Amino acid sequence: MILKDKVALITGASRGIGKACAIAFAREGAKLALCATNLSLLEQTCSEIEQQFGQKPIHFAFDVRDSAKVNETVKKTLDTLSRIDILVNNAGTTRDQLLAMMSEEDWDTVLSINLKSVFLFTKAVTKPMIRQRSGRIINMSSVVGKTGNAGQANYAASKGGVIAFTKTAAKELAKRNITVNAIAPGFIQTDMTAQLGEKVAAEMGNVIPLGRFGKPEEVANTAVFLASEQAGYITGQVIGVDGGLGM
Ligand code: NAP
Repeated sequence: MILKDKVALITGASRGIGKACAIAFAREGAKLALCATNLSLLEQTCSEIEQQFGQKPIHFAFDVRDSAKVNETVKKTLDTLSRIDILVNNAGTTRDQLLAMMSEEDWDTVLSINLKSVFLFTKAVTKPMIRQRSGRIINMSSVVGKTGNAGQANYAASKGGVIAFTKTAAKELAKRNITVNAIAPGFIQTDMTAQLGEKVAAEMGNVIPLGRFGKPEEVANTAVFLASEQAGYITGQVIGVDGGLGM
């Protein structure tokens, strides 16, 4: 178990990639604090983890845009589990629309959920990680944060911002033995890509070099590695988990 007794805080853990990360981290022995807005899905994730691995995560249902709740969550996690070794900033959303028709509200929503929350959580864990003299921060970006994508100006800008933020935080925190890396998934089978419809999914399948969508577990495996001691000399990197799409 490569994360034995490490404490991990994971956002967006009610479903999709975040839930897969929670399960993979629990399998590797981590103690978990999980966040999302949907309380019943979050409780379901916690029950599944308890049944499979015998430890029940603590959980917090709130919107990641709420800075007071972010700080309260970090404090309660420290009070309950004593430390935070790993932060996975995974919560994210889309409001796709061509640029000319995109509303200011949809721009603000996507930027604040996908990017501002990464700043809020990272800032909140920085002091305890500095005191611990170690930490791992993993930010979920996207292949489109590197390439751009028509219809996703807000989403691509937020994910490009996550990459720039990751590199900046990595430079600031390296001397404190805190690594900060990003994962850039391609098309992964979750609720987020289920919205695309079969036709677009089939077209994308033809464009992805490995010829298929990825599984949430394949992203989670990369997060486990980045969170582990084995990744101690990796910081400021963007790891593509995209079937070759981002080459
Ligand atoms: P998903 O299935 O739609 O799940 C999104 C997660 O984020 C859910 O747990 C959701 O929880 C949480 N979330 C959304 N808005 C939130 C808010 N305001 N406050 C708190 N939690 C919130 O998405 P996914 O595919 O697993 O994506 C996970 C991450 O990977 C995202 O950052 C996404 O941008 C990124 N990504 C995904 C893909 C892909 O192909 N799927 C590709 C590249 C990058 P609730 O619904 O309970 O609030």
